[in-house]
Amino acid sequence: MKTKINTLDALTFDNRFVRELPVDLEIKNETRQVMGACYSNVLPTPVREPRTVAFAKEVADLLNLSEDVCESEDFAQVFAGNRLAKGMEAYATCYGGHQFGEWAGQLGDGRAINLGEVVNHQKQYWTLQLKGAGKTPYSRRSDGLAVLRSSVREFLCSEAMHHLGVPTTRALSLVLTGEHVVRDMFYDGNPQHEQGAVVCRVAPSFTRFGHFQIFAARDDLTLLKQFVDFTIRTDFPELGEPSTAVYLKWFAEVCRRTADMIVHWQRVGFVHGVMNTDNMSILGLTIDYGPYGWLENFDLDWTPNTTDADIGRYRFGKQARMASWNLAQLANAIIPLIQQIKPLQAILDEHYIQNFRNAWSKMMAEKLGLPDIQETDEALIYDLVALLQTVETDMTLFFRQLAKVDMSQIEFDISPLEDIYYSPEQLDETYEHSRLEWLKRYQQRLHQSEITEAERCKRMNATNPIYVPRNYLVQLAIDAAEQGDFSEIHKLLDVFRSPYDEKSNLAKYAAKRPDWAKERAGCSMLSCSS
Ligand code: AMP
Ligand code: MG
Repeated sequence: MKTKINTLDALTFDNRFVRELPVDLEIKNETRQVMGACYSNVLPTPVREPRTVAFAKEVADLLNLSEDVCESEDFAQVFAGNRLAKGMEAYATCYGGHQFGEWAGQLGDGRAINLGEVVNHQKQYWTLQLKGAGKTPYSRRSDGLAVLRSSVREFLCSEAMHHLGVPTTRALSLVLTGEHVVRDMFYDGNPQHEQGAVVCRVAPSFTRFGHFQIFAARDDLTLLKQFVDFTIRTDFPELGEPSTAVYLKWFAEVCRRTADMIVHWQRVGFVHGVMNTDNMSILGLTIDYGPYGWLENFDLDWTPNTTDADIGRYRFGKQARMASWNLAQLANAIIPLIQQIKPLQAILDEHYIQNFRNAWSKMMAEKLGLPDIQETDEALIYDLVALLQTVETDMTLFFRQLAKVDMSQIEFDISPLEDIYYSPEQLDETYEHSRLEWLKRYQQRLHQSEITEAERCKRMNATNPIYVPRNYLVQLAIDAAEQGDFSEIHKLLDVFRSPYDEKSNLAKYAAKRPDWAKERAGCSMLSCSS
């Protein structure tokens, strides 16, 4: 076994993106349209007083970094953007995207600066990317910075998602910059000074649907082909050398990965909030944690994003359809390489739409502990989805507590379900009758599969998490952090490491949302201001 790395200068970099793709020849760091290039060289803006708030040791492990190096002063300097370690090359990439259904033109890494591609001992590639390290040519009218609250949210949630088994970008570090950043959190003319922070995100690549869209929109077919070929060779080498047939295989793979990611979001109750095509990873990773949220009461119409509250384009129950829309935009972008539309439509249909439908049903059956799927299960599942919405029911607690109802008894005891509702006054006779009817059907179904209670419980608890980054839990950690107390961030990072194993001393992290959090900003509603 190779030893851990004790200085950042000993990391091995192989920066394929900057080496193999065309660079922006303009060197001024000014907002502009970048034509004929995939990226611009740009250094992070130095900051006054970097201080590491937290790091994820699992991500440090991926990079073979020792914990000592993560605790060093140099780590804070490098991951705040004050120093490039040996082999690092700093660059921001060019992409476009559809925002809320409208083509928005060039967007790009406006507050993300890549530091290069680490090759670890296992020869895996990991791109490092600072979020909030200052302006780039893609910053448009913004400052390129990030505040503590949104950085805590990205850091904790991306790691929680990983431990939940949801494909995601990772977060190595959360560093305070010692600088102030001005934000008008509610866009209501009340700008405040907030503490600046930088998260170092880590992923095999940060390539988005919008990277392909920008070159297609500009009719730059040379660059489009170059970028697609590069992506296939670096991110999808198993598909073989790029060719028309491989482009189709690649699109099918992106469809499958996207379907898989969305099924996971629906499983755990995650609402991304801003599924614009620039926020869709080509690797099917959850990316760009902005005004995301976690379902409390199961509500298909819920979105945490105040900017999208009226229309609800990206609400919980629409995420699957919006991913399909986004994939259709990706397909549009690559039509020039394939010169036919039909095969792309057929792939979208088979590898996304049908695949999602099957995978979703399977996932729901697993949430109920069913070892297989039968024809009647669809009705059982859809009726449950309806039942969960008739009264405000905590999604996470419902599935955990359902596992505790002993279904082997003819007269089963439903007391485990007592404390999972937000408005107990809604629990009238009609509801209780519907619930009982549904539970009886569920019980019959379990009899058919002859699954033991112990097995059912085990299956359910392996797929239904108990500890998720509830909006109010993360907000409490942010409140303390803003006062200089980072202990709750460390605690949550730890709690979210084992989201499926119930521990009696962690009961407070499994509790449903307290009433005070219902209308509190950051808990029930979030803006894009971060
Ligand atoms: P989002 O939808 O928040 O992921 O971001 C959309 C676009 O806005 C991307 O190009 C981002 O890089 C850019 N952006 C968001 N926040 C900032 C910021 N504070 N400074 C510069 N660019 C930003
Ligand atoms: Mg984004």
